[in-house]
Amino acid sequence: MPKKHVVVIGSGFAGLSAATHLASTTSCLVTLIEKNDSPGGRARKFEHQGFVFDMGPSWYWMPDVFEDYFSHFGKKPSDYYDLIRLDPSYVVIYGENDVLDIPADLKAFKKMLDGIESGAGAQLDKFLAQAKYKYQVGIHDLVKKPSRSIFEFASPGLLVDMIRMDIFQSMSKHVRKFFTHDKIIRLMEFPVLFLGETAQNIPALYSLMNYADIALGTWYPKKGMHEIIKGMATLAEEKGVKIRYSSEVEKIEIENGLANSVRLKSGELIQADIIVAGADYHHVDKHLLDPQYSNYSEKYWDKRVMAPSSLLFYLGIDKRLKNLRHHNLFFDEPLGPHADAIYTNPRWPDKPLFYASVPSVTDPTVAPEGMENMFLLIPLAPDLEDSEAMREKYYNIIMDRLEKITGQEVRSHVIYKRSYAHSDFKSDYHAFKGNAYGLANTLLQTAILKPALKNKKVKNLYYTGQLTVPGPGVPPSLISGGVVAREVMKENNL
Ligand SMILES: Cc1cc2nc3c(=O)[nH]c(=O)nc-3n(C[C@H](O)[C@H](O)[C@H](O)COP(=O)(O)OP(=O)(O)OC[C@H]3O[C@@H](n4cnc5c(N)ncnc54)[C@H](O)[C@@H]3O)c2cc1C
Repeated sequence: MPKKHVVVIGSGFAGLSAATHLASTTSCLVTLIEKNDSPGGRARKFEHQGFVFDMGPSWYWMPDVFEDYFSHFGKKPSDYYDLIRLDPSYVVIYGENDVLDIPADLKAFKKMLDGIESGAGAQLDKFLAQAKYKYQVGIHDLVKKPSRSIFEFASPGLLVDMIRMDIFQSMSKHVRKFFTHDKIIRLMEFPVLFLGETAQNIPALYSLMNYADIALGTWYPKKGMHEIIKGMATLAEEKGVKIRYSSEVEKIEIENGLANSVRLKSGELIQADIIVAGADYHHVDKHLLDPQYSNYSEKYWDKRVMAPSSLLFYLGIDKRLKNLRHHNLFFDEPLGPHADAIYTNPRWPDKPLFYASVPSVTDPTVAPEGMENMFLLIPLAPDLEDSEAMREKYYNIIMDRLEKITGQEVRSHVIYKRSYAHSDFKSDYHAFKGNAYGLANTLLQTAILKPALKNKKVKNLYYTGQLTVPGPGVPPSLISGGVVAREVMKENNL
């Protein structure tokens, strides 16, 4: 019997994960096709005169998910990269001279809370006990479900678990049951921003993110987040995946209800028995397929709550900076109006919150000696018009605040600057509405309510990545690749 050929589109976390699972567990030939000239998708890196910039993810949370991934192939993360735990995990900047270093040590964390609100440390124990339970059931069970039928969730034990996990209560209400001080509430609500919505619209199930943050810690792979991708691409090739870069898929060819090949932009046709699409779901659904084969209408897509896009600045600075940590959350303006500008009345925000990542605080290899590598991020509504003038305006808004709060001149020391926003997400990744983080994890976009991992009309076409199950973020994308690979194997007896 000739070996089956699986084509995986896109070398982000999800595509790499799906391809590696399929190549390692089945006898199929697996080809991974990537439009860009390097792996990683949103987690690519670029270099400029000694500055090494991670382009996307910078927070390494849930180390157990990465351990599970590599151990599935008989490996450990340390076979590919060295991790360090950050302490402080990060800093929250509420204003000038109002700064909270978040300690990695739990006892110190509780002491810090008690200093803000009497009894909050003891409350944290109760809050975290629930969050731990949610993490265990959520990350070790629920997220691994393909979510193709409600019956996957129909066991009595699981139903009880789901009720215990506060699926129907908002994260915002949940946090307020334990804490009253605004600073603590903002701190506890911060991790769900990774899920692409505000705490009012995210189910309390996701206090599991607080467990990840506080109990499991914030880690950093030496030389940068891209080391994970480098490790994953090496492992994929070790398992036999053939990776083709600079190869953009332009069309998925269908015959008799089956996908039989992909056509590249160069005109080359690559035969396929099974296709797993790890590129942005909307792009595959609406641009790579003829309309009669797409899973969802434009109207459906338009109604999806997208996670934000972002305006990013990658900066090389010719001196060491003071008063900044590796991860810096600038919460010196209220979240409400900014959240309104992202989700309710999409527009450029007047007073944006922003995040500064300065990995050279931890890692001397990402900047030339005596210099600093900084990346600034403003979350924005998807689909905004992004012009050079707008980018510059916002650069100046946040630079003014950064310089004032940290008490130093930064702008005049910037020797390298690159901005990145909606139009770049679209041209680099075919991102729907220029989204950065995929689809928001709202209750109505959870599990079986997410875009399905299989095409309804084309039997051998599957989807993976941050727009399908289980959701946005690096750990979920890694898991998504495993989930789809298991479905492919099961349905095709591989
Ligand atoms: C700025 C930013 C910061 C983030 N921060 C964090 C963080 O700190 N922690 C965290 O956990 N998550 C973070 N995320 C989210 C995380 O990076 C993503 O959820 C994850 O990387 C998505 O992986 P993916 O495989 O689904 O998609 P992608 O990474 O987008 O991969 C899809 C791939 O498909 C390729 N492709 C698209 N179209 C085609 C085509 N036609 N032919 C061939 N290839 C194609 C693309 O080039 C891309 O390589 C961040 C994201 C961004 C953008």
